[in-house]
Amino acid sequence: MHLKKISFILCAFGVTGCALLSNGEAVRPSSLVPSSDLRRIDASATQAAESRNHQDCRSSKVSDTKSDQADSLSGNAIIDKCDTLIADTTQNMDFGSAISIDSDLRSVPHPIEDRPKIYPSAKSFTVPSVFVRLCLIPKTTQVTIRTNGDVSVGRGRSFSGSISVRRGSQNLHIEDDEGNEATCALPCTLATPNHTGTIRAAELTCRGSIIIAASGTGTFSVVNYASVEDYLRGVVPLEIGTKNADVIEAIKAQAVAARTYTYKRISERKNESWDVMSTVADQVFGGTEAETESANKAISDTRDIIMTYAGEPICAYYHSTCGGHTADITSVWGKRGMPYLKQADDLDRNGTPWCAASPMYNWRCAWSIENLSQIMRRNSRSSFPNSTPFTGTIKNISIESTTSDGRVTDCRVETDEGLYSFGGDKIRFLIRRPTAGNPILQSSWFVVDRCDRDSVVISGKGYGHGIGMCQMGAIGRAHAGWDFRSILLAYYSGVDFACVRSGKSDGSF
Ligand SMILES: [Zn+2]
Repeated sequence: MHLKKISFILCAFGVTGCALLSNGEAVRPSSLVPSSDLRRIDASATQAAESRNHQDCRSSKVSDTKSDQADSLSGNAIIDKCDTLIADTTQNMDFGSAISIDSDLRSVPHPIEDRPKIYPSAKSFTVPSVFVRLCLIPKTTQVTIRTNGDVSVGRGRSFSGSISVRRGSQNLHIEDDEGNEATCALPCTLATPNHTGTIRAAELTCRGSIIIAASGTGTFSVVNYASVEDYLRGVVPLEIGTKNADVIEAIKAQAVAARTYTYKRISERKNESWDVMSTVADQVFGGTEAETESANKAISDTRDIIMTYAGEPICAYYHSTCGGHTADITSVWGKRGMPYLKQADDLDRNGTPWCAASPMYNWRCAWSIENLSQIMRRNSRSSFPNSTPFTGTIKNISIESTTSDGRVTDCRVETDEGLYSFGGDKIRFLIRRPTAGNPILQSSWFVVDRCDRDSVVISGKGYGHGIGMCQMGAIGRAHAGWDFRSILLAYYSGVDFACVRSGKSDGSF
């Protein structure tokens, strides 16, 4: 029997390219070149070398020494200070994986804690733009955009109602249902007044305006251009998955993490066509239809606050349920260690996991041998594209090694055609669940309970990659009286809070 070692790949999706606003307010380079930056580490080596240019926030983020300016302020003072500074981001992130189980959480009692309100200093952080470019459709040849009022295109031209946009050989052809027509060069912006109106595209009602940007020969991308604060209103409810005002502090923590992620993206993608995708590739965006009162309040109450380390926005990874302790980014993804993304216990003072009430705190999956063999054969190329494809029917599965926190780094699978070895967080994309659609495995923290000629049974803990904030733990802490800053500091050790300030205030960049 020969060993076919499957290396595991840590994927980062980078998108390069660019968009310009045609009506004078935007000028960024052009070209749109999707690219992926794959990181590969051997299944037996959990300390892989840092991959070059690995800047994806889902599979990436920042850091070092603390900025030293700034006065020490209480939590409320941080917000007060922000108010005076107002100016105007596959797979690995597990965005959208939070579960709404507020009522269940109450079934696991945690001691109410009175946390000391002593926090890091607040400073301002200058960002290239307080507007985000959100890609709704990466490549298309035509789109229908609907507006509530007039939108301007260039100087002196306005359109309303249902607007058809088609790509010609060189230009865009725009026409509304009242017969107004125009031909525009790419890129082109359909601007609502001050980018504060609503506009509908890709079956999403978005705040802000729409940029039509070139995306290759004969196609264009549809990009929503909105203030970060407005964008977050369509993101936070889908990411934290709770509307319960009792845990508003957890929702605030989520808002700050999502905002930090977004600004990190904006800073990394200055020369590209968009900053974030509207899908799990970045943060799931649901438009105005997804907005909730509690999320809007959480966003408003934490306006402009982000987390920084060494004077840069941090890599604010988060996930649904850690299972009792969070993971170290190096051991899970082989990425360079970050001081604020270390393994940490997620336990209350009685030793009870803050996320113990999550339905994914413990989980179990069972497959027939043929079903799991088929799932692994089907997904091995996409999960481990640079490795020998998985073939055959499973005869045995064993866990050979794990990280210090129990996440699988070497899982051996023997089939009638070979012996395979794989591990790391990517294992979740290979061993997919048996349920409809075969979603990825809940976590890489699991053991093999049974593997015989008929079936395979695996049980595990947690949901998501385990890095950064545990969303269900954050909700548990909020129930126990923690405020959002204490929650964030529990998961991102040693970070500072800062208030973003734009170098420009007119929505341009
Ligand atoms: Zn947890």
